[in-house]
Amino acid sequence: MKYLSTRGEPATSRFCDILLEGLAPDGGLYLPERYPRIDAATLSQWRTLSYADLAFEILSLYIDDIPAGDLRALVRKTYTPAVFGTLEIVPLKPLREGLSLEALSNGPTLAFKDMAMQLLGNLFEYELGRRGAELNILGATSGDTGSAAEYAMRGKRGVRVFMLSPNGRMSAFQQAQMFSLQDANIHNIAIDGVFDDCQDIVKATSNDLEFKRSYKIGTVNSINWARLLAQVVYYFAGYFQATRSNDERVSFAVPSGNFGNICAGHVARMMGLPIKRLVAATNENDVLDEFFRTGTYRVRKGAETYETSSPSMDISKASNFERFVFDLLGRDAGRVKQLFRHDVEQKGSFTLTPQEFARIADYGFVSGRSTHADRVATIRDTWRRFDTMIDTHTADGLKVALEHLEPGVPMIVLETALPAKFAETIVEALGRQPERPAGLVGLEQLPKRFETMPADAARVKRYIAEHCAA
Ligand SMILES: *Cc1c(COP(=O)(O)O)cnc(C)c1O
Repeated sequence: MKYLSTRGEPATSRFCDILLEGLAPDGGLYLPERYPRIDAATLSQWRTLSYADLAFEILSLYIDDIPAGDLRALVRKTYTPAVFGTLEIVPLKPLREGLSLEALSNGPTLAFKDMAMQLLGNLFEYELGRRGAELNILGATSGDTGSAAEYAMRGKRGVRVFMLSPNGRMSAFQQAQMFSLQDANIHNIAIDGVFDDCQDIVKATSNDLEFKRSYKIGTVNSINWARLLAQVVYYFAGYFQATRSNDERVSFAVPSGNFGNICAGHVARMMGLPIKRLVAATNENDVLDEFFRTGTYRVRKGAETYETSSPSMDISKASNFERFVFDLLGRDAGRVKQLFRHDVEQKGSFTLTPQEFARIADYGFVSGRSTHADRVATIRDTWRRFDTMIDTHTADGLKVALEHLEPGVPMIVLETALPAKFAETIVEALGRQPERPAGLVGLEQLPKRFETMPADAARVKRYIAEHCAA
């Protein structure tokens, strides 16, 4: 399998070439040159596989530059009950007939990002080992991504993580999750400033090409194809649990921000998984909902990006969205370039033609949005009626899922985080503290390991240089 760019670079790279890269050199996103179609016989065979073996079958369609035995060992080491809490790895939790949650948040950081990031950690270690190379991951986080990256990379050979976070601005739980890690290859840097200051330092450091090259700086952001590919697996696993035969169709509702999670659903559907609808749920930051309703994609400015109680969906532009638009437009890279490089960069938005907009229905996408009041009501309602506690992001997904139920089509809502991460809103909705997995009781009392620094890129660079043994 070869990979091409959404902006026209031809398909020459293989999986391991793009594994450690971000954007394609032409500024586009990598996609496989085609989506392998899964026939009915294969789908039936896959029904009975363990999660790790299913992951191996799907991954090997897209990865042909890692020997099969090695790839199987990597996925088996990743998707274990010890790491993800159950034998099924992503069990369905029925709420009522035709409506269930798919539990994606039982990994070490209690959010679905572990599903992909844990695999990425093992793939990075393997590929860096093969090359005899090293990588220093530099990132900025306000919560879920940073902790998922640290728990995936801790103790891995050849990898160091330098994670910037705004000092004192994460929840106590999120901060304790990251700062309690004692692994020598994990460096937490608390910046005196806000998240944007952290982001600016990452940009300034990455734009210093000489520094970037000599200190082998890389990232693990959500546009990484390997992350997206790992997420395709749980759409298949959810489908098999919700159905008995391949004649049945299901719909998925996905709490969405950067469009990585739901884009994996799109890939699964393109491979032939019988998905009726992909329901994109946003919070008050409704860039995606606006697009699916109107055909206009309008990037928000900083001041128009709201801080909400489902913070992992507070985005101003959806960094994976270009992948779907590329497929929607019949893989016309020229048109994609016009929309994203010309229209978005010059005007901050683009609008599809009516003919282009009409094609969205063929891809199964619908959407909706949710507000803080909706989240609180949905959390309360789910607790009362189904005796199930859900987090704020999953609540956004469930609220919008209920608006798109169809008779005879099971709806699966992806549970993207556990309520323990977002205690404040749970207390507001239910008047009680969220349940916390046993291993994490007392997390805030553990010793913390972090450095505090002013918002100064030169200081951060000096710290990185000092902590990379040449
Ligand atoms: C990252 C995240 C999302 C958004 O996922 P995207 O892939 O960016 O669309 C939703 N919920 C939670 C809890 C997250 O951490």
